[in-house]
Amino acid sequence: MKMYQHNPDNCTACTACVSQCPVTAVTRKFRGPKMVGPALERLRLSQEDAEPSLEYCSNCKNCDMACPSGVPISTLNMLARAKSFKNRKHSLGEELLAHGEKMAKLAVNLPGGAFFANMGMHIGSGLGLMRMVGITGQRSLPAYAAESFLSQFKKLRQQIFPDKVVFYPGCFINYNDPQVGMDFVAVMQANRYEVIVEEEFVCCGSPMVVTGYLAEAEQHAEKNSELIKKWREKSVPVITCCTSCGLMLKQEYQELYDIEGLAENAKNLYDACEFLLLLADKGKLNTQFAALEEKVIYHAPCHLRAQGFGLPALDLLEFIPGLTVENADAGCCGLSGNYGFKADKYDISMDIGERLFARIKGSGTATAVSDCGTCRLQIAHGAGVAAVHPVTLLRQAYQR
Ligand code: SF4
Ligand code: SF4
Repeated sequence: MKMYQHNPDNCTACTACVSQCPVTAVTRKFRGPKMVGPALERLRLSQEDAEPSLEYCSNCKNCDMACPSGVPISTLNMLARAKSFKNRKHSLGEELLAHGEKMAKLAVNLPGGAFFANMGMHIGSGLGLMRMVGITGQRSLPAYAAESFLSQFKKLRQQIFPDKVVFYPGCFINYNDPQVGMDFVAVMQANRYEVIVEEEFVCCGSPMVVTGYLAEAEQHAEKNSELIKKWREKSVPVITCCTSCGLMLKQEYQELYDIEGLAENAKNLYDACEFLLLLADKGKLNTQFAALEEKVIYHAPCHLRAQGFGLPALDLLEFIPGLTVENADAGCCGLSGNYGFKADKYDISMDIGERLFARIKGSGTATAVSDCGTCRLQIAHGAGVAAVHPVTLLRQAYQR
């Protein structure tokens, strides 16, 4: 673990991070990125400093993007948060939210599988049990899909092509939103790629990092990095449709852990739209799209913007005739992984998302598009509009 390898002294106290922090904008409970990040880090270097407002950082990364001095503020916060758990125990709610993959595996292996697990979550929420463990009852936890992505993928008969990619589904697509994974496979097949799914991949570890389980997340980082290295050595790119998984695999592993080969691995990791736009740039994208006479509004996830390759979905969707795409450009959605599922963060999460909800409602569109699964959940919850991944629209346009 990279404890104390990030230098807080690069901070010039310009406060650019404060102006871009969505949590600071809506609550006085958080002392802000400059104070909680580099300023307190200097104190933490010499003494134990328990800063309660550290709990309010959502790890959205907007401070990191704003900082002109390259201070990894959110990483300082996550390292300090993990350290704070030396003096206190995780609550049951934190335990559950950090271990979504473990919960999903348990749920789908129960008799009746996803159906009874979803019913149990619904009843538990109605009885106030979620609230009792620190999880909000004001929004539903994401329902489990009747059949996981991996299970559906194994039954699929793909066309075999010489070009191959490895798909990293991540927990949310595998257990909650498998259609995105199936749409990705169809889009890659339309571009004459065979998709390989590495069953040994585990949760990227992002929900653990934000909940202070840094050492456990490191074990996941080691396992995933070994598998990514294996495919890198075979020159097969690894692609994800989840922006938080992508950020973790490519960038946060490097910021948090000393694992050999992470920088090389990062060069072999791609977001789905990033990869497809690179194909377009090389003149290799299949652009035989049928028209989709529709207007949609696009929301760029913070964890996509933090990866620094622009907004490839906007460029890609321009290839679809008839499709009008408006960029919402309304900041953070507020959900930020498991942040908005915590009972004491729900109102903050909704206040942050308000600008985006108003923008989407005001646009008059029936469909929103976003590359992040939790952004899509927040949009559906806060704006009441269905939200899809860009690859879903691409698949629809290929199939017409
Ligand atoms: S990661 Fe997000 S919430 Fe945390 S300090 Fe930075 S901008 Fe604020
Ligand atoms: S943006 Fe960077 S340099 Fe400016 S106050 Fe924040 S951490 Fe310090």
